[in-house]
Amino acid sequence: MNVRIGYGEDAHRLESGLPLTLAGLVIEGSPHGAVAHSDGDAVLHAVADALLSALALGDIGKLYPDTDLKWRGLDSSVILKDVLARVTKLGWRIGNVACVVTLDQPKLGSRRDLMAAKLASLLEIPSGDVGLSFKTSEGLATAHVQTRVTVLLVRS
Ligand SMILES: [Zn+2]
Repeated sequence: MNVRIGYGEDAHRLESGLPLTLAGLVIEGSPHGAVAHSDGDAVLHAVADALLSALALGDIGKLYPDTDLKWRGLDSSVILKDVLARVTKLGWRIGNVACVVTLDQPKLGSRRDLMAAKLASLLEIPSGDVGLSFKTSEGLATAHVQTRVTVLLVRS
């Protein structure tokens, strides 16, 4: 097999007065942010899990436990970089990434290109290989952000 599929999900509850970080960017003007030990970046967490799942390496909860002070409060891009290094070391590269973000407020549409460019730079791939879809929950639940990510790995 020269390709492998990975899938990851993440969700965080949102509370007012906290910063909202998604895809490695602080979302300016957000009325709320993620409740989390880390920066609560639901995009980077789901991408990292998708990469790990593609190679059956477990998940970020297992490899970077927030009970370990080493990882607590860490910038999620550091975890993602570490995961990417594992993937590369095993002889794989990313073909493309597809990410769905469910968030009621703020609207992210105007930030799509910026978020895709940031995520692409963290993953060391062209931004044209990062697809971002934005959905709302139609107010069906308490304020939260949820992400679902599919990734294709290609043998390098
Ligand atoms: Zn998370």
